[in-house]
Amino acid sequence: MNAPHTHSPRFELQAPALNHWRAGNTGIEGVWRFEASEPGRDVLVTALVHGNELCGAWALLEALEAGIRPRRGALTLAFCNLAAFDRFDPLDTDRSRFVDQDFNRLWGAMPWRRHATELNREQQRVLELQPVVERADWLLDLHSMHAQGPPLGLTGLMAHHAAHAASWGAPGILVADAGHAAGTRMRDHGRFGHARDEQAVALLVECGWHGDLSSRTVALDMLHRFLHASGCLDHTDLPARWRSPDAPSAPQQLLVTHAITVQPGQAPQFHQDYRTGQVIEHGGTVIGHDGAQAVVTPYDGCVLVMPSLAHATPGATMVRLARRV
Ligand SMILES: [Zn+2]
Repeated sequence: MNAPHTHSPRFELQAPALNHWRAGNTGIEGVWRFEASEPGRDVLVTALVHGNELCGAWALLEALEAGIRPRRGALTLAFCNLAAFDRFDPLDTDRSRFVDQDFNRLWGAMPWRRHATELNREQQRVLELQPVVERADWLLDLHSMHAQGPPLGLTGLMAHHAAHAASWGAPGILVADAGHAAGTRMRDHGRFGHARDEQAVALLVECGWHGDLSSRTVALDMLHRFLHASGCLDHTDLPARWRSPDAPSAPQQLLVTHAITVQPGQAPQFHQDYRTGQVIEHGGTVIGHDGAQAVVTPYDGCVLVMPSLAHATPGATMVRLARRV
């Protein structure tokens, strides 16, 4: 068995210098908010939920430097986990994913708020950003991935999120999934996790591999589509150069049926260097091992989503298995 991710390509995307954009204008570090006089949606775009996922930070910097302002409603731009981003090291990029705990597993009911005696860095930051997330009607959360693969959007399980995302035309793969056993994501928090609240729309976009320059191109393309669709800006308000010429025609939609969680014991392994979007033709195919158990595809035409051993501690998600919708 060969261990994947041992022959990573060169990490080309540099960490952006946030400079004076780091401060924000809201009293919350890293959070910028602009309000229009006309009514409209409250729109939020987030980056650096994981400190080593730089593409979204580049996109927010572009928006700030371009002086983008909403015509209707409000636009908030937030650099989320700055403490983790500050640790970014191009020679050890996984180290800056978080400081104490994954920021994107701390949302939802937040049982840790009742039990924690002393809050860690990410818990403190979640409490700072919670009002920002809770006032938003629409959320675009920009991420990148541990491994190379096509950009994909994570829509959660409610159909209205996927329907909106599909109408934006990108990214090329939309994945409906319930999230992670290890904890709730920001994109599933509060209204974004309520089936009946169809006014609340959230999309998490994995813009490609962390180190690829193309991840920044995808992030800007998504930012353009999202801001236009939200109605907070008109098409002509947005820089045309943000739109990527090689955007897909119509997104392919996948439904995650199984999320394989890393078990304690023997370190998990994949039998090949699998990629997101890869289809395993035959049900019953053993694709790896997790603890003492074989990881087996449960049906024909099973699609692999984000296979990763980069943070393979017990409880983390190793791979999601999906059907084409
Ligand atoms: Zn991420």
